Amino acid sequence: MTGRSAIFLDRDGVLNVDHGYTHDPASLQWQPGAREAMALIKQAGYLAIVVTNQAGIGRGYYTEAQMHAFHEAMNRDLARHGCAIDAFYFCAYHPEASRPEFRHRDHPDRKPNPGMILKAIADWGIDPARSLLIGDRDTDVTAARRAGVAGHIYQGGRLDDLIRGLLPGRPASGSGR
Ligand SMILES: [Mg+2]
Repeated sequence: MTGRSAIFLDRDGVLNVDHGYTHDPASLQWQPGAREAMALIKQAGYLAIVVTNQAGIGRGYYTEAQMHAFHEAMNRDLARHGCAIDAFYFCAYHPEASRPEFRHRDHPDRKPNPGMILKAIADWGIDPARSLLIGDRDTDVTAARRAGVAGHIYQGGRLDDLIRGLLPGRPASGSGR
């Protein structure tokens, strides 16, 4: 039995421009080539899964509902590119959260811990060895490594160029593994 392949993506600074606790759909600004990258990922048959620390919820800067609205705006926009993010995993916990229910010294879901990735692997039947993660911080790559997934740093520029370089050559139809 083989698991599915997935591309895990950090959100802020990888898919969308990080304005700092970004949550307003009106401030959704894609990184260059991000929507094209998403289309490539889906065309290649990968699951596209966002894993995002959202301490802004724990800090009381915005609500979970507002975050969901932001994610819906992303997928509405991606639909015009014929693709979608399959799932969003978020972590609202933070050591200094102002909302006590989200205060946690070292929550297993908060990157660099791998909890969100491990949860997605279980939920979707993903094979970590056939998956990878794109992040813009060391904490993203550390979380990936702890989940057995190869992590790659996005350093700006066109995200679709990075993805194109990381995806294995597209097999001819019928000859894929
Ligand atoms: Mg980031």
